[in-house]
This record gives sequence, C-alpha cells and structure tokens, in this order.
Amino acid sequence: MKLHTIDTGFFKLDGGAMFGVVPKTMWQKLNPPDENNMCTWAMRCLLIEDGNKLILVDNGIGNKQDEKFFGHYYLHGDDTLEKSIHALGFGMDDITDVFLTHLHFDHCGGSVRRTKDGNGFESNFPKATFWSNENHWKWATEPNAREKASFLKENILPIQESGQLKFTTEGAEVFPNVKVKFMNGHTDGMMLPPYSV
Ligand SMILES: [Zn+2]
Repeated sequence: MKLHTIDTGFFKLDGGAMFGVVPKTMWQKLNPPDENNMCTWAMRCLLIEDGNKLILVDNGIGNKQDEKFFGHYYLHGDDTLEKSIHALGFGMDDITDVFLTHLHFDHCGGSVRRTKDGNGFESNFPKATFWSNENHWKWATEPNAREKASFLKENILPIQESGQLKFTTEGAEVFPNVKVKFMNGHTDGMMLPPYSV
C-alpha cells in the first residue's frame, strides 16, 4: 500500500469559530491569526494506492462556486485537487473510490464540477464510488441552522444524482483491511477509514 498527500490549497476561517472554547492565548501561538482574526488552514487530502484500488479521502473545496463565495474564504496557494492528482501520474478517471469523512464544503467540494456548458453539475470522478453514511447524509441534506452554511446542496446532491453514491455502516469493511469508524462530535456521522494490517 502507498499513501500520498493531496494538497488542494489553503483557505482562511475565523480562529475563534474554529477553536471554540480554547482560549486565544493558547491557539494563537501555533496558528497566528491575521488582523481580522482569520487563520490559515490547509485542505490536505489523502490518496491510498492499494491493490487495484485508488482511494481518495476527502477532496477539498472544489472550484464550482462564484468569486463572491470564494472571496469569503481567501483561497490561496498553488496546489489544486487536479494538479496534485496529476502530479502523481494519475487522472480523475483513475480514482476508484472517494471516501468522504463528512460533507462540509471544505472536505467534499471537489466531488462535483460544473458541466461543460456551465449550467449544471456532474461528478468530478466519473468512475468512482462515493462513500458516505445514511445518518450523515440526512444530517447534511436536512441541516440545522448552526451547520447549514457548511453543507452546500451543489456539493452534495449531484453525487446522489450521479448514481455513484453508496452508504456504509459503522464497522463495515468498506475496503480490504479497512473497517469504518464513526466519530461524532465535529459533525454527526463523521467517519474515518482506519487500516488494520
Ligand atoms: Zn468539517
């Protein structure tokens, strides 16, 4: 098995919103905020080469929204999802599985792209199976007021419409030697793909 880092760029979010009850005197040393209290975050994904599987774990913010949307998040850096995948000698068509830890826009935005005519949306990984779970899918598509801004319909619904979506369950062997772990907290039904070999 080979593991690769897939860098998809950096963005900024309010430090207070991200660290919650942790005092600023503690977090600002490692994460210095700018003059607007915004901290820089890497959208770093994982690519797993294992046998005939090429599994992408999360895929960054994507590029389908307008300038106004991206203006709120100060995207920067030279890396993009496509560039990082191509740099390893792979194409988008080579990805066999996309494992989505959760459906916040900075983790699943690269799942979907605009169609060539610009009027619709389609899967960014035509040959992949997308993995989520029923609880989190419901949580994301019927969001509460607090999390609503992080779940964007255009990132999520086209995955289902593509017919490439599958749900897994806690403890299921989603890939050989990978038993899914659910981690509630950051959001409901977040999931991780721990390997046991
Ligand atoms: Zn999140």
